[in-house]
Amino acid sequence: MKACLLNAPAGIETNPLLFTDVPVPNPAKGELLIRVHVCGVCRTDLHVIEGELAPRKSPVIPGHQVVGAVEKQGAGASRYAVGARVGVAWLHRTDGVCEYCRRGEENLCDHPTFTGYSVDGGYAEYVVAQEDFIYALPEGFPDEQAAPLLCAGIIGFRCLRLSGIKPGGQLGFYGFGAAAHVAIQVARYWNVTVYASTRDARHQKLALELGAAWAGGTLDAPPEKLDAAIVFAPAGEIVPAALAALRKGGVLVLGGIHMSPIPSFSYDLLYQERMIRSVANNTRQDGEDFLRIAAEIPIRMHTQVYPLSEANRALNALKNDAIEGAAVLRVME
Ligand SMILES: [Zn+2]
Ligand SMILES: [Zn+2]
Repeated sequence: MKACLLNAPAGIETNPLLFTDVPVPNPAKGELLIRVHVCGVCRTDLHVIEGELAPRKSPVIPGHQVVGAVEKQGAGASRYAVGARVGVAWLHRTDGVCEYCRRGEENLCDHPTFTGYSVDGGYAEYVVAQEDFIYALPEGFPDEQAAPLLCAGIIGFRCLRLSGIKPGGQLGFYGFGAAAHVAIQVARYWNVTVYASTRDARHQKLALELGAAWAGGTLDAPPEKLDAAIVFAPAGEIVPAALAALRKGGVLVLGGIHMSPIPSFSYDLLYQERMIRSVANNTRQDGEDFLRIAAEIPIRMHTQVYPLSEANRALNALKNDAIEGAAVLRVME
């Protein structure tokens, strides 16, 4: 099968993904072989490719927002019929037995595996995945619309949940990529006012089009004090600026898997019961709840579609803020 293979982490400007032929994987017990239609491009893929996340498997096929059809069932795998359209996301599997899994916090599992990082992902014609961690996809979303829901969407949704934002609240977004693109639609659906801080003028314009009350530069102060804010951009210098925009008791959520160092800041910015918390992965319940609400709204994604063979070009565009909404790789014509 055709696949984009990462042999060793390197800067994306060196085009490190090799478009090549590799064997089709075999589904093991409890797994499904999926014929990939499209695969979303996520900033986490960039962190894997550029080595900001320490390699777990090498070489590896990245990609963890897969929409495809079940091609073959492994032993004992009967949850989805052959031909069913399904989604594969970042959380490939958990151990199911650690203290976090037993507490219902499987996103924090001690021994997780991740799609497109510790196992091969969806920048390929086929992928295998655990049937228990595969999502049924709502009808009404074309493949390229559904793919970005699987990570950008679900993680953005978990960020909203952990922010504690209530209807009528004031919410800040820092960075306006694919996750913010989805999260603003959920926030507006909940009657939350959104303020978007992002360095790119095109992204500011997009935020206003999607219903933001205000858009400005990353370090500009929003016109109102915020009940909560979510930092989607992987830039630590945003944290003090975002804290300064919170009201007393406000919550700052850091949505990324990787962030550059956070500069030191005065305790005054945190005092008065402001909180900072990160978001790590998601539970399957988050995913199912989000996909339900995504269909109810319904979420509409602005996507830029690239052929699988041009994954390097899509990722370079992502790094240079040149994607409006979400980039998606089309695997099957
Ligand atoms: Zn666990
Ligand atoms: Zn992702």
